[in-house]
Amino acid sequence: MIRGAKLTIEGITKRYGETAALNDVHLEVTPGSYVVVLGPSGSGKTTLLSILGGFTPPTEGRILVDEIDVTHLSPVKRPTTTVFQDYALFPHMTVAKNVGFGLSMHGIKGEESSARVARALELVGLPGTGDRHIASLSGGQRQRVALARAVVIEPRVLLLDEPLGALDLKLRRQMQDELSEIQRSLGTTFVHVTHDQEEAMSLADIIVVLRDGRIEDQGPPDRLYLRPATRFSATFMGDSNLVQGVAGQSIGERVSVETSFGTFLVGGEAPVGARVALAVRPEHLRIDDVGDLLIGEGRVLGRHFIGAHQRCRVEIGDQELVLNAPAKPPLGEGQIVRVSVDADDVVLLQDGSSEAL
Ligand code: ADP
Ligand code: MG
Repeated sequence: MIRGAKLTIEGITKRYGETAALNDVHLEVTPGSYVVVLGPSGSGKTTLLSILGGFTPPTEGRILVDEIDVTHLSPVKRPTTTVFQDYALFPHMTVAKNVGFGLSMHGIKGEESSARVARALELVGLPGTGDRHIASLSGGQRQRVALARAVVIEPRVLLLDEPLGALDLKLRRQMQDELSEIQRSLGTTFVHVTHDQEEAMSLADIIVVLRDGRIEDQGPPDRLYLRPATRFSATFMGDSNLVQGVAGQSIGERVSVETSFGTFLVGGEAPVGARVALAVRPEHLRIDDVGDLLIGEGRVLGRHFIGAHQRCRVEIGDQELVLNAPAKPPLGEGQIVRVSVDADDVVLLQDGSSEAL
């Protein structure tokens, strides 16, 4: 097993003319961990990966692999390999030639090369397909070949740019499980970029949320989901209801927040008078008055049955909240319900501006 390397990103900035694709990005990646960089299109994901792989020079900053500065090394001299978004396979070559290509670049040929190619194809679930042509493969099989071509080099860091983006949903979810297994069996450090938050949550040890070239939040998936640091991560990582408010007095580790639904005592910190937002996940809103905080009485505007639960829009005062209620009993449009929430399920966000996301 090849030990994954530690990766350090130190103050990376990348400018294209006036625009900064990346702005002072700092990140430390633990050896052998699976890091997913999550961000919308244009947030700088590909630029970051390309700087890590050595394909794009940064304007400022350094990249270290196990404390060694690789910022100025060419891609082939780095202990990294990249799986490109479009796979970049050679369509006229066989599977084995594609997978062996990188090995020949590293001077590995003959029997050792064939043995490693066969092992890599086995690892990605394509044993015995070496003689097939790329053109005869399905999208999912091509994705596996691209992965085999990367892991055959036995890199210490594997970089993956939206590797499952071209696959249909079912195959994508299946490949997520396989990627996770492959990463654990190899022990390689994986840096995987995607705009798919479900993919990020199912794969990552650590998720790094990227927005406009800056890291907005980073941490384990459950922390990011349950305690997002900003409005952007609260809404980008799944749905959140945001309630505007103004912070009042702090009492111990709790702050009283005045909102249009009343004054709530919630965990967190904010200076008196600060504009804040309270974020509440749809699954944390209750349609009863048992929660610590009573939000109010509202009218069901709409309802979708989604198997495990029913998703409802409820109007309380002049605000609409989205909530996931248990599947039974069915709620009817126009029905009046009481809505409450446990104080522990409310996240206080300092950035309470009403600025559009
Ligand atoms: P993502 O992969 O998250 O969609 P990119 O890293 O591709 O984002 O792009 C980030 C920003 O940098 C975008 O605004 C994009 O237009 C810009 N950008 C990327 N590559 C170039 C380039 N070669 N020249 C000019 N602008 C670029
Ligand atoms: Mg991209």
